[in-house]
Amino acid sequence: ASGGKKETHKASFEIDLPGAEMGKVVTRFPPEPSGYLHVGHAKAAVLNEYFAHAYKGKLIIRFDDTNPTKEKVEFQDSIIEDLALLGIKGDQVTYSSDYFQKMYELAVDLIKAGKAYCDDTPSEKMREERMVGDPSGRRERSIEENLQIFTEEMKNGTAEGLKNCLRAKIDYKALNKALRDPVIYRCNLTPHHRTGTEWKMYPIYDFCVPVVDSIEGVTHALRTNEYRDRNPQYEWIQAALNLRPVAIWDFGRLNFVRTLLSKRKLQWFVDKNYVGNWDDPRFPTVRGVRRRGMTVEGLRNFIISQGPSRNIINLDWSVVWALNKKIIDPVAPRFTAVDAHLAVPVKLLNGPKTPESETKPKHKKNPEVGDKTVIYADQVLIDQADADLAEGEEVTFMDWGNVIVSKVTKEGDVVKSIEANLHLEGDFRKTSKKLTWLADTKDKIPVDLVDFDHLITKDKLEEEDNVEDFLTPTTEFHSNALADLNVAKLKAGDIIQFERKGYYRVDVPYEEGKKAVLFTIPDGKQVSRYG
Ligand code: ATP
Ligand code: MG
Ligand code: MG
Repeated sequence: ASGGKKETHKASFEIDLPGAEMGKVVTRFPPEPSGYLHVGHAKAAVLNEYFAHAYKGKLIIRFDDTNPTKEKVEFQDSIIEDLALLGIKGDQVTYSSDYFQKMYELAVDLIKAGKAYCDDTPSEKMREERMVGDPSGRRERSIEENLQIFTEEMKNGTAEGLKNCLRAKIDYKALNKALRDPVIYRCNLTPHHRTGTEWKMYPIYDFCVPVVDSIEGVTHALRTNEYRDRNPQYEWIQAALNLRPVAIWDFGRLNFVRTLLSKRKLQWFVDKNYVGNWDDPRFPTVRGVRRRGMTVEGLRNFIISQGPSRNIINLDWSVVWALNKKIIDPVAPRFTAVDAHLAVPVKLLNGPKTPESETKPKHKKNPEVGDKTVIYADQVLIDQADADLAEGEEVTFMDWGNVIVSKVTKEGDVVKSIEANLHLEGDFRKTSKKLTWLADTKDKIPVDLVDFDHLITKDKLEEEDNVEDFLTPTTEFHSNALADLNVAKLKAGDIIQFERKGYYRVDVPYEEGKKAVLFTIPDGKQVSRYG
């Protein structure tokens, strides 16, 4: 498939771009500024950038802003920011709206060539005709009439214009329904966020993309393969307008279990206040997953590892989180936290009468992570879950030493308090229980640990499913914990590990009198904690 190439770059993917030449590849990422970027868009963006740079070519970021009803400057700005977060910078930023005049002229050419016609068939009827393969009653309108309607009525958004649309005259009974005279221009009186009220009609995606791709010098148009049926339409438009053809290269759409990857559906959750905003940690947006503790490296590694895979499968999030864990584990500083609910006080009868502190590494295997302060005292707290100990039992307090339990006070099954003696000469290799403990001094920091579940209960929502029927009743879970004093210094965005608990990202840092809020970062081990 790659005939004619001179010097090509052997990508780490199994498949090269067909006909790609070193230094000459131009790709583009064409988001519509109608929402925030989600991880599906991230896949498209990363692949486009990957190929552009692997072939020492050029990446165009193009805002596909042809539908003023859905588009906003806010979204446009957020897309640029999120691409920057992903480390993606286009060599050029363009706008489909820059070509409105040019596209208008090309549409006029198409009419003059007898390859497009204006149609005021009501939309229901038009849909029906397209379904069964009947020609529109307007298909044989004269070129003069079409020009008049398009350049006067539609262009000026008159009442007559609003009733019409422009359709490519391809083949009303084609087996491929995408070729049954698709609509290519439609009126819309909503002011456009860049061109205001200058235009009253706008090109449809299916017309705009092949035209602008060709004009901008794109060599390879990467598209998700669920639109493969529309490829012949793309090619038809370039051919009908004598535009330079562009090679289409399709890749598999990214889908995740129990996840909606559609700006329209995500907007619905925002509008209904089911989530805080587009950066909600339950959202599959670039901002949402970052807030949840996904690193850019983790996400990029995931996308590259998927490569161009054409299979549209419903992935489990654990795949991405497991890759993310590989990135964070070697660098996340480690601290201590004990569940506040039913924490068990342990009196160390021979422990230090006044608290002592020592400097210890934040990460045992990586000294570069820095040091922290550990406080030792004769009163410590342990988790209720760890407290089911027998009198006389020897256990190890992590990073301290062995302890021999002398007294356990219970109320029913609940351990209320423990007395023990430090036995620092004891061999930690001989104990089976290694427990997390926290000095019970005034320095301990209250933290709110938050975990989340997927927003929807069904693995894969079908188009006809009503989202409202599949909402997970509770998707946010809080638990209070007490953490060591070093946690007070953490900043928003810091990623840490609480030993024996897991990874967390600081969402709201600690402030005097206010709990720090930390989000659990999935580590890929559990498919879904609560599902
Ligand atoms: P949405 O339905 O979320 O709005 P879209 O495809 O309409 O998605 P665009 O802004 O038009 O959104 O898409 C920009 C690019 O991102 C397109 O090239 C599109 O193919 C790609 N893309 C969108 N969703 C996915 C996905 N789930 N997996 C891979 N690529 C995607
Ligand atoms: Mg789109
Ligand atoms: Mg869409």
